[in-house]
Amino acid sequence: LGWWDHVKPAPKDPIIGVTEAFLADTNPNKINLGVGAYRDNEGKPVVLQCIRYADSKIAGCEFLESNATEVGSKLVEESVKLAYGKHAHLLKDGRVAGLQALSGTSACRLFAELQRRFYPESPIYLPDFTWSNHHNIWRDAQVPERSFRYYHPISKRLNFAALMDDVENAPDGSFFLFHPCAHNPTGVDPTEEQWREISNKFKVKNHFPFFDMAYQGFASGDLDVDALPIRIFLEDGHLIGCAQSFAKNMVLHGHRVGCLSVLCDDVKQAVAVKSQLQQIARTTYSNPPVHGISLVSTILSDPQTKVLWFKEVKVMANRIKQMRITLRETLEKLGGPVSWEHITNQVGMFCFSGLTPDEIDRLVREFHVYITPDGRMSMAGVNTSNVNYLANALHEVTR
Ligand code: PLP
Repeated sequence: LGWWDHVKPAPKDPIIGVTEAFLADTNPNKINLGVGAYRDNEGKPVVLQCIRYADSKIAGCEFLESNATEVGSKLVEESVKLAYGKHAHLLKDGRVAGLQALSGTSACRLFAELQRRFYPESPIYLPDFTWSNHHNIWRDAQVPERSFRYYHPISKRLNFAALMDDVENAPDGSFFLFHPCAHNPTGVDPTEEQWREISNKFKVKNHFPFFDMAYQGFASGDLDVDALPIRIFLEDGHLIGCAQSFAKNMVLHGHRVGCLSVLCDDVKQAVAVKSQLQQIARTTYSNPPVHGISLVSTILSDPQTKVLWFKEVKVMANRIKQMRITLRETLEKLGGPVSWEHITNQVGMFCFSGLTPDEIDRLVREFHVYITPDGRMSMAGVNTSNVNYLANALHEVTR
């Protein structure tokens, strides 16, 4: 028997499968709405102006070894400001265990590992639905998983009553994961009022909220508005965990820049938690590459460049919002039996279409429109040149 004969191929990531099928398709009308990455109105990936500026500013400095730690702490400081807003003093107070991470994925994984080390019996409650990799991350970290109800497939809105029931019925002191904005894959976020209720209930139940913020800015177009849920929880005096990714909002996917912060009761706890996180990182990738971190911390710490970035985020978010409006209007003009209201009710990068597996199959085979098997469409792939074609395809498969 061969050494690796007992190894079977791991299941394919559904999103990577969609991209492969798209690339193999030779039809000129093909549209890829699988991957959650921003595209401009020509369907091209973008390099933000703020990135170009920061890149010219740092030119070469990232090669200085002595720079790495400094750049890492700057990134944590600026990321915490971005997420915590006026509560960012908690970092200066020494209560935040913060670490730069390999984008949002490793921020989640670091937290999952921390959970396993110190709360080995406690499950993570994940929203139903959630980003598919959340299941894998907590599974590989050997943390048991539970789910809480979130999305209501009939109304295509938040099932708030069921969510609150599940929060209530979880054992006191449970870990819950929330997407603070632009929920992936459903595009459905709680309202401000609902976040306040969730926060109040968390107080009563002594639950621990972990926020995975991969799309800050994409829901409302305003980075501060999108961080509101986190700030509500901080206002209410919760301890929180927060994963941040700059993959989407700085269009830096390949550079893997992110941050994990864990708010603790006091300095002593924060020092201990940070040292544990550093140890976990040390045995997996030691330190993240410094170039991307330098770009992000340069942008965040220079007020003018930060303003430019805020504007560029707004432009991206607004383009997607406009495409939602155009797609819905075009579908409504075509006049099929289905309601398309959810296209504009949902926010962020994704529209959770509600299409059946048969309809999705037809979309791919007959129209060469690629979406993930759960019916998620990345609105970032829609533009003025393909929106009519897309509307027609959606109309044909649902009428
Ligand atoms: N969290 C959510 C909800 C996501 O959708 C993603 C990416 O799709 C991530 C985290 C992690 O992305 P990255 O590791 O590229 O920052």
